[in-house]
Amino acid sequence: MNAYSPETTVWWDGKLQNWGDSRLHLLSKGLQYSVSAFEGIRAYNCAEDLNIFRLEDHLRRLRRSGQILGFDLPYSDLELLSACHQIASAIGECYLRPTAFLKEGSPGLHGVADVEIAIAGWPWPNKRADTGAGLKLTLSRFRRVFSAPELAWAKASANYMPARLALQEARNGGFDDAILLDEQGLISEATTSNLFIVKHGSVVTPKLGSALQGITRATAIELLERSGEEVFECDLTPDDLRAAEEIILTGTAAEIGAVDRCDGVNFAGRAGRITALLTASYESAVRTPGAEWKAISWGPFE
Ligand code: PMP
Repeated sequence: MNAYSPETTVWWDGKLQNWGDSRLHLLSKGLQYSVSAFEGIRAYNCAEDLNIFRLEDHLRRLRRSGQILGFDLPYSDLELLSACHQIASAIGECYLRPTAFLKEGSPGLHGVADVEIAIAGWPWPNKRADTGAGLKLTLSRFRRVFSAPELAWAKASANYMPARLALQEARNGGFDDAILLDEQGLISEATTSNLFIVKHGSVVTPKLGSALQGITRATAIELLERSGEEVFECDLTPDDLRAAEEIILTGTAAEIGAVDRCDGVNFAGRAGRITALLTASYESAVRTPGAEWKAISWGPFE
């Protein structure tokens, strides 16, 4: 079964339906004004069953994203948990994409509308993880800039325009992904993953601010600390990036992304000590049901 095939399962308003039956009104405010937030979650096969990795944290971020955009989710955590489990058990190992958005309602930008939630699921293996090849990155001219700080904390559809343009430009130039700077010219993150570097043997990741609070980022920090590594959260410049020994991307879809090159500079890729350590510990963590993780702080807007 391919991603986006007609067999793709969608949970919409409490019921499972086929891909082709999932329709949105042209005037939904999710489409017209991007009043929409979403999540990307992976369900992994493990010895006993499927493990939907850190599902509660993803649902917490979705609720938080909705609040930042001015709406509440119309389903309880328990209902959404059970919907995700329903889809995952219908598909097996898969990627889940819950999306919460405003439907059509009274006209205009300020118009009132109900909130809808739909969850799509499809098999999405991480092919790169099997090939051994690392990523080729480029620094993008597009920046991750926000008109109010809390917007950066929402996984909001509206935040993806620069990232999509950056990725499009990167792919056209023969790169796999792009790194975006923030308003000040500091490293923010890649298009859909957070970033770590290893410099003089130390692990450093940009402070949160313009970057999304990634659940894989938090997982990676915890796994590294458990292995005795100290992780520093600092401002990082493009010069820091070029001087690094390793660059690592982290995200639910990307998992632990080894980086081979960025704009003509070579990095250790999969052979890097920290990249290898994280890849192995993450692979084991995602297939361990019931693992305990430190609570993630959803920032100054909680
Ligand atoms: N930044 C952006 C912009 C993203 O879309 C994602 C993917 N959700 C991430 C970072 C990584 O977040 P997570 O580890 O929670 O998937």
